Amino acid sequence: MQYTSFNPPARTLMGPGPSDISPRVLQALSRPTIGHLDPLFVAMMDEVKSLLQYAFQTSNPITMAVSAPGSAGMETCFVNLVEPGDKVIVCRNGVFGSRMLENVERIGGTAIVVDSPWGRAVDVNKVEDALKAHPDARFLAFVHAETSTGARSDAQSLCQLAQQYDCLSIVDAVTSLGGIALNVDEWGIDAIYSGSQKCLSCTPGLSPISFSEKAVQKMKARSHKVQSWFLDQTLVMDYWSSSESNKGKRSYHHTAPVNALYALHESLILLHQEGLAASWQRHAEMHTILRSGLEKLGIEFIVPEQDRLPQLNAVHIPEGIDDAKVRNIMLNEYNIEIGAGLGGFAGKAWRIGLMGYGARKENIALCLAALKDALK
Ligand code: PLP
Repeated sequence: MQYTSFNPPARTLMGPGPSDISPRVLQALSRPTIGHLDPLFVAMMDEVKSLLQYAFQTSNPITMAVSAPGSAGMETCFVNLVEPGDKVIVCRNGVFGSRMLENVERIGGTAIVVDSPWGRAVDVNKVEDALKAHPDARFLAFVHAETSTGARSDAQSLCQLAQQYDCLSIVDAVTSLGGIALNVDEWGIDAIYSGSQKCLSCTPGLSPISFSEKAVQKMKARSHKVQSWFLDQTLVMDYWSSSESNKGKRSYHHTAPVNALYALHESLILLHQEGLAASWQRHAEMHTILRSGLEKLGIEFIVPEQDRLPQLNAVHIPEGIDDAKVRNIMLNEYNIEIGAGLGGFAGKAWRIGLMGYGARKENIALCLAALKDALK
């Protein structure tokens, strides 16, 4: 068997992620690999941390990137914070709320599930009822931007409730970070994780996370070791909580994905250069342009306007249209990827992503033209 190098085509990625990546980020990825304890790399990691603090709008010292995808960021939050027997209110309005539930159950926590319909925001009133009914709950966990449905939840109100009822909040910001307003400190978020491959428009495989002081205290007060060695934050905190005073302490924990972190650094610089508020605004504007084009094609949104995410547009597949055929035409004839429906939406929805570098007018024009042709 003769093997040849893999040369993928240049697709326009307009699905639920990974999103289109800026050439600047791809160039950063291909720079020479240096040692992960090299002083130059350590200095770059300090910048990654401060850029992540900017992206999350936090001054939490424990703000870093887990060397693994968003699901590992999710697991990092749960395994470090939740102990067997802890009661966790889990909000479920799509696939990723179910994944949170799975984490709680595997740890041996007691999950109280608050269900809201798919395609709708988490019902804040139902959450308050659950908090009242379970005064011993220690955590409130929810997904800010449900990628499986395109629904946005009111993270600020939910975190306020968590504080009011003496719970720590665990927030999934995989799809929200960089795409819609998110203020970790102002909203009082205790544990948050994201993904590199959505609105940050970096390569997949890294998960930015951040923990509040209260969350760090909870981790430090654990009665027994975190069952996952790799994700145990107490072992990596020293590495990331760098400052002039403890730089000398940096030591080996695992081999950092050096080049992937160059890419994350570059993508965060792009976000910083644009400005967070400008990035949120651009996502909102691109959504408006896409929406009017889709409406002209007779395509309807699943999520009511007030709950809609600009970066993930879930739409009904029109009656009598062959889902796979349309997506194949778009992929093979136009090099555009849009997402299929996930979970309960499989075969019923398309998910059109406008994330990060992909949230651009030319992508929208191409997508609409391809969709129009494929629907013929
Ligand atoms: N949470 C949400 C809301 C997501 O959209 C995803 C991925 O799409 C994840 C978690 C898991 O992230 P990853 O696929 O990077 O593990």
